[in-house]
Amino acid sequence: MDTNGRSTSPGRRVLLRGAALGAAAPLIPAAASADSPVRASRPGRRGAVATYRWLGTSGWRVDVGEENGKAKRTVLVDPYVTRFPTGLFSGDFDAATPLRTDEALVRRHAGKPEVVLVTHSHWDHFNDVPYLARSTGARVVGTETTYHLLRALGVDGGQISVVKGGEVLDFGGYVVEVAASLHSRNAKYSYFAPGTLHAPPVAAPKTVSDLPEGDTLSFKVTPTGGPSALFMGAGNFDERAFRGLAPDIAMVAVASSKATYQYVPRLLEALGRPGVVVPVHWDDFERPLSEGPHADSGTDLDAFAAEVRRVSPRSRVVVPDYRTVYGADLRPCR
Ligand SMILES: [Zn+2]
Repeated sequence: MDTNGRSTSPGRRVLLRGAALGAAAPLIPAAASADSPVRASRPGRRGAVATYRWLGTSGWRVDVGEENGKAKRTVLVDPYVTRFPTGLFSGDFDAATPLRTDEALVRRHAGKPEVVLVTHSHWDHFNDVPYLARSTGARVVGTETTYHLLRALGVDGGQISVVKGGEVLDFGGYVVEVAASLHSRNAKYSYFAPGTLHAPPVAAPKTVSDLPEGDTLSFKVTPTGGPSALFMGAGNFDERAFRGLAPDIAMVAVASSKATYQYVPRLLEALGRPGVVVPVHWDDFERPLSEGPHADSGTDLDAFAAEVRRVSPRSRVVVPDYRTVYGADLRPCR
């Protein structure tokens, strides 16, 4: 959840949907430390390729595969597609809203994931993960809190990898680097349901308030030979933990308030001014995906894009759409 504290009038229609903004900069590897093993991969090299589908909020489906049509390998990030209403965007948020999963919808969007990356445990990131983990056997990578919540919801502990930040995980064909991160803050410098779990919850979670944040992570995914993409789940970050990640593509959560000092400039500078910047977590996640994205009322995408252009003129801003499949360079696939 990234929107606590925003005004709650209905969101305006997104006009920028699917548009690519900003200077038409080529996808270039950002300046990086030469000693990082991840930075050995180079855009444009033949080999594994990836496609990206935005699942809304901070959710992504990444399919990594060979160009000769070999079977794709699917990695999910924060897959939340059920999108049940809580009143968050209509002004009467109910923290006791029951959790539920639309299993058919999840199956339709998720493919057959082998890895699910979870940035934090709020329901708009975590809700569909227990079903996905139980039904597919996918490995879940997340915090200790995510681990305890999943265990309480019937997921085998052997398929959960607890991480803190700093891990560089080699899945053969792609590498996942974990970075410690931070949750966004509302105008009162706080956020919904903070807290961590260091033991299983007393009872299995039943409502949105039963899912604490549990600290927040970001993930950099680098398919072999392909550009790297950083996935953020909330609109804040640890500047020192991000410095040197140098992703080619950055899925940047749009901040929901001005509580964080110089969010966009500090973020883009720490990341080495990525070639492609993709704003995420700006959409109303209580409308069905089939409607296409609607900006929630707290977000000004034009201002975000303008700030990116000012700070990092060579970055290409791609405002994503749920219904578009993007190639490794984040241009729409034909
Ligand atoms: Zn959250």
